[in-house]
Amino acid sequence: MSTIIKNGTIITAGETYKADILVEDEKIKQISENIKPSPGDEVIDASGLEIYPGAIDAHTHLDMPCGNNITTADDFESGTIAAACGGTTAIIDFANPKRGQRLSDALEFWRKNSDGNCAVDYAFHITLVESNDRVAAEAAELVEKEGITSFKTFFAYAAMRISDGQFLEILDIARKHGALVMLHAENGDILEHSMKKLHFEGKKGPEFHETAHPAIAESEAVHRAAALCGYSKMPLYVVHLSSKEGLAEIRSARAAGLPVYAETCPQYLLLSNRLYHKNGFEAAKFVMSPPLRDAGDNDILWNAVRDGLIQVIATDHCSFLFKGQKDAGKNDFTKIPNGAPGIAERVNLIYSYGVKKGKISKNRFAAVMSTNPAKLFGLYPEKGVIAVGSDADFTVIDPDRKGVINIADLNYKTDYSAYEGFALDGMVSMTISRGRVIAKDNKFLGSKTHGKYMKRSKFDGSASII
Ligand SMILES: [Zn+2]
Repeated sequence: MSTIIKNGTIITAGETYKADILVEDEKIKQISENIKPSPGDEVIDASGLEIYPGAIDAHTHLDMPCGNNITTADDFESGTIAAACGGTTAIIDFANPKRGQRLSDALEFWRKNSDGNCAVDYAFHITLVESNDRVAAEAAELVEKEGITSFKTFFAYAAMRISDGQFLEILDIARKHGALVMLHAENGDILEHSMKKLHFEGKKGPEFHETAHPAIAESEAVHRAAALCGYSKMPLYVVHLSSKEGLAEIRSARAAGLPVYAETCPQYLLLSNRLYHKNGFEAAKFVMSPPLRDAGDNDILWNAVRDGLIQVIATDHCSFLFKGQKDAGKNDFTKIPNGAPGIAERVNLIYSYGVKKGKISKNRFAAVMSTNPAKLFGLYPEKGVIAVGSDADFTVIDPDRKGVINIADLNYKTDYSAYEGFALDGMVSMTISRGRVIAKDNKFLGSKTHGKYMKRSKFDGSASII
């Protein structure tokens, strides 16, 4: 039996046109006008709807333990069901080893929690918190055997941060085996210094979270990493870029010809630091790292998404209960678990506030939500494109549908949305994963065993990222 999606408008990173799509065995078999159904074929009417390549969220943290007996509120089941209903067909999460731990043991831990519990296709980046011969050998094995072709690094946080020398060694491992190095770009010494100072001054409320993470900590880290990558002749992927200062360093690195890529997230495009100064401890809902910046930074980042300086919009979904987890930091903001949800809201928000408000084109939306992350993280051309032979993953949007974000509709285990009450103009109508409608009108129709682990191809820098 085949499935035919009829009468929709297909929108990819490069093209917009009307055609029908024939799906067989989870793949796109044919794209043309007026495909005639055979008896028994399933026909999906997409009249008036826009069909995009399935949205990929390249930055999530599901079921993540993070010290003090706290684990993120959303696990792989709730997180990927929320993703599916929100129009996302694939996620890339993180396996985080501790220092001294075998990388494969860390991956096994994350696979145990995710396998059989994912409603959408899933993969992992591996975090490298040290560099030595053992890590080099184990990282090579993960690239070759498990298709883990991206290494996450940190310039901040005692348990994760690496030195410049270790960063250079990790770039060497990545070059040798075909992986992309990702960076959490904050200068750890600046963070520690500013937090100590705030504590000394008795400034312990959540309104000081942003002060503890100044934008110059981000821009310094981007600048330094870009220089180290320039020296090593290696590309770099900066996660969750938050500030105009950080962006200025991305701009100058790219102007110098360095392949430095940047990801931002809906919170840095739509929310601002004013939220840290409203309603007392409510501010804890927005305690995430890096923090929210000035409202003026929002527009500067939107322009960078439009102009190609930022190539990916992911979520950094890292959800904690406002009541029961975030309140661990009631008396000290440095004890508030850092992170916010977003996996369910991303597609609707970026469509409503990016496309509909004229900040980015529909083709750019396809590029930053799907095509670019697929190319950067070795999922292309199975994912990230609507073409014969590719996976039949589609995010189908009704451009006329309107709604309002309400935590009750988001399928989360967590108890709040950072975007509660945001009006939506244009919303996900259907999410189709490998030919199967897994969500329709925000109703989950899939299963938690549908998602497949994705072994990713090596990064060789050859794919054109726009
Ligand atoms: Zn993250």
